[in-house]
Amino acid sequence: MGQSIALAYEFFSWRAVLDVLLVSAGLFFLYRTLLRLGTWKIMAGILLALVVFILSNALDLKGIEWIYQNVSHVAVLGLIVIFQPELRKVLEKAVSVPPHRLKDQDTELQSLIAESLVKLAREHCGAILVFPGREPIKDKISGGYQLNAVPSLPLILSIFDPNSPGHDGAVIIEGNKLTQFGVRLPMSQSARLSEEYGTRHHAAMGLAEQTDALTLVVSEERGKVSIFTNGTMQPGVNADDITRAIVEHQQQMGFFLGETAPKISKRTLLQVVASLVIAVAFWSTLMVSQREVVERILPVSIDYTSPTEDLALVGEKATEVKLHVTGPKSDIDILAINPPSVKIDLSKMAKGTQTIIITSENIRLPKGVTLLDASPQQLKLTLAAMTEKNMAITPQIIGKLPGNLKIKKITVTPDSVLVNVPVTREAKNIDEVLTTPIYLESISTDSKLFCKVIARPSIQPVAKRWPDVEVSIELKE
Ligand code: ATP
Ligand code: MG
Repeated sequence: MGQSIALAYEFFSWRAVLDVLLVSAGLFFLYRTLLRLGTWKIMAGILLALVVFILSNALDLKGIEWIYQNVSHVAVLGLIVIFQPELRKVLEKAVSVPPHRLKDQDTELQSLIAESLVKLAREHCGAILVFPGREPIKDKISGGYQLNAVPSLPLILSIFDPNSPGHDGAVIIEGNKLTQFGVRLPMSQSARLSEEYGTRHHAAMGLAEQTDALTLVVSEERGKVSIFTNGTMQPGVNADDITRAIVEHQQQMGFFLGETAPKISKRTLLQVVASLVIAVAFWSTLMVSQREVVERILPVSIDYTSPTEDLALVGEKATEVKLHVTGPKSDIDILAINPPSVKIDLSKMAKGTQTIIITSENIRLPKGVTLLDASPQQLKLTLAAMTEKNMAITPQIIGKLPGNLKIKKITVTPDSVLVNVPVTREAKNIDEVLTTPIYLESISTDSKLFCKVIARPSIQPVAKRWPDVEVSIELKE
């Protein structure tokens, strides 16, 4: 019961809402990008990556999991790069103001344009007309000539007359003005338009894939008019279809007087709703699966806080313990990445040997996680009193001198060091510490060598650091 309340609470927190919104925005842009590019290869790649991830999670494949955990940041950047054109468009649309306002009633201009296209088609004159949407097309087009004219039948027919020098390329109509002609459009990057169509149709498709412009094409071979929008082609349309398409386009973009925001099309609305539904479904399954309670064994290290001044830990001490824990998978996963350490506080312990049982008090575990067992479960620790003692520093001589050389004299400076040793029976018998090894094979003349001191960990120098030791060796034949 308590858990389901916690779950419900998590569902409605602002974080959850943000999470779902971001995921659905991601889905929406992914879908739109794929739709516009017409390439499902990216989608197939993302799906494949997802399947691999789910499988590796289920099979507990550590290598793949590691890659996903550590490379996912890069993948997010990659997705942003892929979606960049779509993201940019949305931002541009949000701040754009329609440049031209049209009066709602008169669709005279639209029918005039439709009429001229039908006429061109009948005469088998090729043509392209572009009605830009809210997204700027300037970056996508090139070439062309400026014009600032009211479109008329004779003007359109003259521009696309195959004998006129400006008939090649597209005409741009912004608002109620013909602003450019002879413009080159970007070629389609997808394979959705069949190869039976030539460059004119592919250019119209290219612009429709990359922007929200409406493009009308008159085929000179077929004598037919086609409409291109949003990466789709509607072939073989008549004058009424053309008029309607232009008016609808201008309405949708909010170009008519009295409309401020662009109309959100039913299709876009549907896509938004679908993205939201999928995101909520994804998010809730994720939440439920993360709530799944698991058990795991985690190896963690042991931290000993130092004992009071006059005591020292002697003998063997464990440095690692295996914890058997249980709790929600999400918490356990985080624990496994960032394992806690077992804290043993020696500062409150008295002299002597004592057994410490590892309990949840020694480890800081997240709320929902419980400690079932630890191995070893107990630690046997001995604290001994410390005493100061002067110890000789003995050079650690290894091997034989070359030839028939003999050692005449060895001097060690300093020859002793003041140390703290625990008061234990075994420590009582130790009265020297060694230097690092000196190998005689490599010595053939009188030499001075610099060494460090080595001693067991329970023996510590009073001066906090070991002195550097100079060993001088004198030789004789
Ligand atoms: P049609 O059915 O009219 O023959 P098509 O799709 O078969 O069209 P092409 O026969 O290759 O295309 O038509 C070539 C004409 O298309 C060019 O003369 C030019 O006017 C126009 N065209 C080609 N590429 C572009 C472009 N990138 N931008 C604008 N217009 C273009
Ligand atoms: Mg052709």
